[in-house]
Amino acid sequence: MMRQYELVEKVLSYDPNADEALLNRAYVYAMKAHGHQKRASGDPYFSHPLEVAAILTEYELDDATIATALLHDTIEDTEATKAEIDEMFGAEIGALVDGLTKIDKLNFANKRAEQAENFRKLLIAISSDVRVLLVKLADRLHNMRTLQYNKPESQKRNAQETLDIYAPLAGRMGMQEMKDELEELSFRWLHPEAYETLTTQLTTLRQRNKGLIQKIEAELTANLAEHGITAMVRGREKKAYSIWRKMVNKQISLEQLSDIYGFRVVVDSVDECYHVLGAVHTTWRTVPGRFKDYISTPKFNNYQSIHTTVIGPGHQRVELQIRTKLMDEIAEFGIAAHAIYKDGVVIANGGERSPSEDATPYQWLRRLVNNLLEGDNPEEFLEHTKLELFQDQVFCFTPKGRLIALPRGSTPIDFAYAVHTNIGHRCVGAKVNGRHMPLVSELRNGDEVEIITSDAQTPPPAWEGIVVTGKARSAIRRATREAMRKQYGNLGRSILVGFFTQHEKAYTEDQIAKVASQLGQKSAEDVLAPVGRGELAASEVFRAVYPNEQQPETPKRKVIKRSDEGWFNLRRVMGLKFRWPGSNSGQGVGDINGIPIRSVHSELPIRFADGGAIPGERIVGILDPGVGITIYPIHSPKLRDYDEQLERWIDVTWDIDESSPERFPAKIKVTALNQPGSLAEIATVIGKTNSNIDQLRMVGKQHDFTDMLIDIEVLDLKHLRDILSGLRGLPMVSHVERVMS
Ligand code: MN
Repeated sequence: MMRQYELVEKVLSYDPNADEALLNRAYVYAMKAHGHQKRASGDPYFSHPLEVAAILTEYELDDATIATALLHDTIEDTEATKAEIDEMFGAEIGALVDGLTKIDKLNFANKRAEQAENFRKLLIAISSDVRVLLVKLADRLHNMRTLQYNKPESQKRNAQETLDIYAPLAGRMGMQEMKDELEELSFRWLHPEAYETLTTQLTTLRQRNKGLIQKIEAELTANLAEHGITAMVRGREKKAYSIWRKMVNKQISLEQLSDIYGFRVVVDSVDECYHVLGAVHTTWRTVPGRFKDYISTPKFNNYQSIHTTVIGPGHQRVELQIRTKLMDEIAEFGIAAHAIYKDGVVIANGGERSPSEDATPYQWLRRLVNNLLEGDNPEEFLEHTKLELFQDQVFCFTPKGRLIALPRGSTPIDFAYAVHTNIGHRCVGAKVNGRHMPLVSELRNGDEVEIITSDAQTPPPAWEGIVVTGKARSAIRRATREAMRKQYGNLGRSILVGFFTQHEKAYTEDQIAKVASQLGQKSAEDVLAPVGRGELAASEVFRAVYPNEQQPETPKRKVIKRSDEGWFNLRRVMGLKFRWPGSNSGQGVGDINGIPIRSVHSELPIRFADGGAIPGERIVGILDPGVGITIYPIHSPKLRDYDEQLERWIDVTWDIDESSPERFPAKIKVTALNQPGSLAEIATVIGKTNSNIDQLRMVGKQHDFTDMLIDIEVLDLKHLRDILSGLRGLPMVSHVERVMS
């Protein structure tokens, strides 16, 4: 077990500015927290976090990562809490340890759906800070190294999970050495017989080929020196797992496998890499189809090398990787070599390749996730991961690179709400991969989504039916409810202004605020909404503001003349004045404007009575407590029901621009002869007059005739009349009338 001072000295050796006190504090804290806990091996538990820290010092990681490694199991396995870690080690380390605690609970050996969800959580945890994954990989590596002490089923499960999830992630990050060891250890526990056989065979082969690696190394070095190149040449035997995989994939024996040995030529510059290539290719015969230039076209994980295979010294096939020192480091240590794991901070490693294009871990992660899902190299990755599980997910990104995971079918609206509720509410448009796209479009993996917002926007209630995520849906519902409350407030204000003006008294919201508590409400706004909902009478508010005024007069009775079809019934209207359509507001019986009705979709909580109401005819509103205002044509027989509830009558007036294309609902009843094609002719007449049929019901069928109720949409009264007369002109139509309720 590494001693405390050894660990600290190791960190200081590569980072003289490391926080020594922090490392000591983390060491002591973790040791005390784990106390007498033991590992399966019988070792003190603390040996595990210490080993994990030691592994990470090999990657020369920063002090916060090393401290996190020491603390990584404290929240999960001891009395320690996140709050305590935060307090003692700061929020940064607190968040890292917390991230690891969360990952620890993820289980990849259960149901597919859960696996998918857990992988998503893993990606999210590492996308917030990639150091979480670095510690997790070291944690997994140490656990795999000590797997012999575990129970057999735990050995298999851990090995499978490592092979499926962690080894590919290490590979994706370019941490070749980590990946190789994780695979090797997994292989050992997953396929013990194959592992045993192969390692025995390899040992035999090694003895037979004794000195071969050294011999080839020497010849290569000498040949390059002749060409004036100083290079470091290293040979190695390939790992059992990668050999075994090739044997399985190609269905061949170990003897048939030619590339068991690989050689690496490391030089100082890119230029020299190509010199080496030239020298090697002029000296030895090349094996066709084995040349790859990953220097000019790096792999997704920044891996760079030239690959080639030649028939080398002793007619042995020699696989060569030619690269610079920096490339070599990146190939072995991947992300850790870049030191871009530190949020936004680039610790350049020197060398010819600028790491600036990978300046943030987000960009790296973005590409990682992209590649994970698009599978640019299926044979290397997809066969070894469980990514087919994630078909029901899409992974998208903010312009700053934040990963947003969404269910398949999600829209930019879902994305906006996932980023932040306020972004969702204010969302008016979206750019997907830099192009304007409709808000209803379906997002795809790797999409970069930029949400365009506007301060004036409230979410349309219809979005509730478009979005896929629960978060978006409930946020839209809440906003709709809030908007309704505002609408009732506006309606209440209109009612009160009307009432006060009618009684020749000034109306201000300050007055309302003053009497709010008297009315059992908290604020002026709290008074307005109940008035709008019809729960609080305008007269009551009036009396509270002007207690000394006479009670509002008993309403006068008025005779209303039917405008177009003779006399209608007498109707008492409590001080309500109607404006003829098209008249100026000042020309009415009084100076009060009714609540303007501009459209079926109003800012106010209004709806239309069953038979509809059409511009050009006079209308009244009836206040339905808790619902809003229902608009009736003044001729509607339904209005008789409200004769005794005059306080519910609301002055409303059309306010329609003549050029407005807005349509309003109307209901008509058509009696037509039962004969083939009659329905089609009726529909044709309605269509020709530029109207729509909303609904059509057969309501009565005699022997010869059918009564049908048709809901149509019309522009105004004239439009309706045109439709009615058109229908009356049809020979099979015996009767047509408008229905008002
Ligand atoms: Mn652990």
